[in-house]
Amino acid sequence: MTRRIVTVAASQSAAAFDPAVYRSDFPILDRQAASGAPLAFLDNAASTQRPTQVIDAMSDCYRSYYANVHRGIHTLSEESTAAFEQARVTVAQFLNAKRPREVIFTAGATASINTVARSWGDANVAAGDVVLVTIAEHHANIVPWHQLAARTGCRVEFLPINDGFTIDDEVMVEALDRLRPKLFAFTAASNTLGTIFPVQRWTKLAHDHGATVLVDAAQAAPHQVVDVQQWNADFVAFSGHKVCGPTGIGVLYGKEALLEAMPPFLGGGGMIHDVTTTGFTCAGLPEKFEAGTPPIVEAIGLAAAVKYITEVGLDRIAAHEHALSEHAESRLREITGVQIVGPVAGAVPNQKNGIISIHLPGVHAHDVSQQLDSAGVAVRAGHHCTMPLHHFLKLSATARASFYFYNTIEEADRFVDAVIEVQSKFA
Ligand code: PLP
Repeated sequence: MTRRIVTVAASQSAAAFDPAVYRSDFPILDRQAASGAPLAFLDNAASTQRPTQVIDAMSDCYRSYYANVHRGIHTLSEESTAAFEQARVTVAQFLNAKRPREVIFTAGATASINTVARSWGDANVAAGDVVLVTIAEHHANIVPWHQLAARTGCRVEFLPINDGFTIDDEVMVEALDRLRPKLFAFTAASNTLGTIFPVQRWTKLAHDHGATVLVDAAQAAPHQVVDVQQWNADFVAFSGHKVCGPTGIGVLYGKEALLEAMPPFLGGGGMIHDVTTTGFTCAGLPEKFEAGTPPIVEAIGLAAAVKYITEVGLDRIAAHEHALSEHAESRLREITGVQIVGPVAGAVPNQKNGIISIHLPGVHAHDVSQQLDSAGVAVRAGHHCTMPLHHFLKLSATARASFYFYNTIEEADRFVDAVIEVQSKFA
């Protein structure tokens, strides 16, 4: 069996970050938009691109050693099972989880949060209880709680953001005191505002008030170090396709004792210890939560992806994206009629990531996005699955640019130049 070793041909020095070193690993970045303009891919908050190392790791599995896992006593099944379980070890290391059995492979962050809502929620939340979220949540961290409320009679309460697009500790403590939530579920970083929230501090505040904590790390895992032991959160969710990995896979991290106590959500093959005509007993962790054939090749691709971004360096990724944001924002703020919907990059250290959402009064975000596309600049327009946040901000839609480590300062400038052109055309 040939196994390609994932390597990144890059200097790991603390010298200035050079995206060109990595861009050659992403052939898709060399293509053109439909207009013929060179592509500036600034839609990374929706989904990142994959390096050849990830594509090769997956195709190598399909070509050389693929079979279903945990079932066959034959060479290919044993090799696939070993690679699949090694992927779990790699992801556990990426998260600094205590043990690989705390890492459950799911279909994505959405599936991870739904698993908690069904498995933990149905067993632990009752009528009258409160699930607390922030107004900045993605629908993936709102709808499962509305569904839980419909099943159990619990209430979903929302923490508002302030004028600085974050939440003051006093507001949070007052809400925790008053509501005594069973669960506090919040995003580590907003996919619309770009605000990075203080996970460790909020988790401690919530624990001090007796709440269980779920952190939606979909926009954190690609861009900053996620250390689940340091965060001390009870559950953490993220998606493979946002960390340069494949679609169709995500991770639910849970503290071992909590996962042990939770009933499984999905039933079927792989998650059982014993089945009779009258019932079943569950397998242990992590299989208990992985009914059916798991995303085998996707897990192998995810492991290659987290190795890749770890070798690039999460701190360096965060610093580079922040530099791009600060540069683009400083230019955008000089354009009359362009509103930035999010905190000022650089105003508070470590509070803003590489996401810039803008609002041009009188111009629909879809028109902004379409005009930018003709300049080759790919951004996202709409509500970004944060409708309650957009309602709260009294906006119907925003146009969002989101940087990743392979984006360049020239691409950030092309984004701003295209916005200036839209503004002059429509204003
Ligand atoms: N949470 C946040 C903050 C997100 O940005 C997203 C996706 O955009 C999700 C959850 C859902 O991720 P997925 O669609 O991969 O399940």
